[in-house]
Amino acid sequence: METVDKVDMIKNHGLTASENLEKFLKRIEAKNDDINAFLEVRGEEAIKRAEEIDARIASGKETGKLAGLVIGVKSNINVEDFNVSAASKTLENYTGSYDATVIRRIKEEDGIIIGMTNMDEFAAGSSTETSFFGPTDNPAAPGRIPGGSSGGSAAAVAAGMCDLALGSDTGGSIRNPASHCGVMGFKPTYGAVSRQGLLDLAMSFDQIGPLAADVSGISLALDVISGYDPADPTTLDSSPDLEVERELKGLRVGVVREFLEVTDEAIDEVIQGKLGAMEDEGAEIVELDFGYIDLCLPTYYLINYVEFFSATRKYDGRKYGHRIEDVCGSEVLRRIHMGSYISQKELSGKYYKRALQARSLIRREITGLLSHVDIIAGPTVPKLPHTLGEELEPMEMYAYDVLTVIANLAGIPAASIPAGDVGGVPVGLQLQAKPGDDGMIVSAMREIASL
Ligand code: GLN
Repeated sequence: METVDKVDMIKNHGLTASENLEKFLKRIEAKNDDINAFLEVRGEEAIKRAEEIDARIASGKETGKLAGLVIGVKSNINVEDFNVSAASKTLENYTGSYDATVIRRIKEEDGIIIGMTNMDEFAAGSSTETSFFGPTDNPAAPGRIPGGSSGGSAAAVAAGMCDLALGSDTGGSIRNPASHCGVMGFKPTYGAVSRQGLLDLAMSFDQIGPLAADVSGISLALDVISGYDPADPTTLDSSPDLEVERELKGLRVGVVREFLEVTDEAIDEVIQGKLGAMEDEGAEIVELDFGYIDLCLPTYYLINYVEFFSATRKYDGRKYGHRIEDVCGSEVLRRIHMGSYISQKELSGKYYKRALQARSLIRREITGLLSHVDIIAGPTVPKLPHTLGEELEPMEMYAYDVLTVIANLAGIPAASIPAGDVGGVPVGLQLQAKPGDDGMIVSAMREIASL
């Protein structure tokens, strides 16, 4: 059943919020020990919420847009009374003292927060293996990584443990696990969604966004969480128009040669198959060239290290939990050390300033390409998820991100939608559009999902 139809059913007495919740609680009970998608579940509070929503519906009172939907939240987003650990020992005992703006909006629309999901420590990773609380398994391809860093959120949706989940995306962390787990994930235009209450990884890249099993879930969630927030000065004045309706017929779809070149052949075949199906429906495929593919990862990681180093200075052991350097894992420590080194004044011209220049080049290049088309379509991740526990060099891990970091460097909206599989392992199709054209992507997702 589509997520919007479920909300209708709940509002029209066809299903109670309590029944909906109960089913997910049972699923979590049965599966979470194996999958480790949720780090914390608060069933009792959720049951009370569901009963309260049901009572309102029974007495004919108004309910919100998410009435009775069950939602998992990545552990780096503040939710009052939940353990906002960012999957790090640093914050293992930290309890959220307030709701992030996105959480407040979800609660106002009668969404039910069920728990906090697993992730890479401080969102710094692409596999969810660096969580202090152990890795998450991929429900769609058991024994493999679910991707990351929002691996718990993607796995929770893929395993049927919740209706919707929130993730954060700094360089692909919503789209990458969505691709590996065979679900949908959306990174909004930078500034479309408030970051207030999100623990920063790299604040000039970070965006919160939804993961869901169907497009209606994505668009419902986006509608609720996006919009101007006086508490986050980087939010845009106007919300993206999510009512766009464009058929595939006549849609100009850019396909970037270099994106396919850096991708494994078997994945390319799946993507080509999907693009062919879009073309059959009348989409116009436009071949494009992107000149800076080799610059993307160095530029992204350099800026990421610098911003992350600065964001972590507050974890000095006085106000929040432990001193980060004393307890964090090796990837987080690498970023702190590199960030501290690069941030030295005398080196700024050598690294950081050049990275900012490269970022401008990349932004100009991708927005230039987008001016010729309605949307760019291609693979989300260039390789298949590895086996859990397999040891990768940092550069091999970073290579997962080459196609996703571009949207963060440029601030443009981007999403991943299931495109097919390679030997049973899901493959995602990435869609990217101009800043503010989030609705164009949602519209294309709707069309693609029904192919
Ligand atoms: N894998 C990328 C990184 O480690 C992206 C992480 C993210 O989007 N949070 O930085």
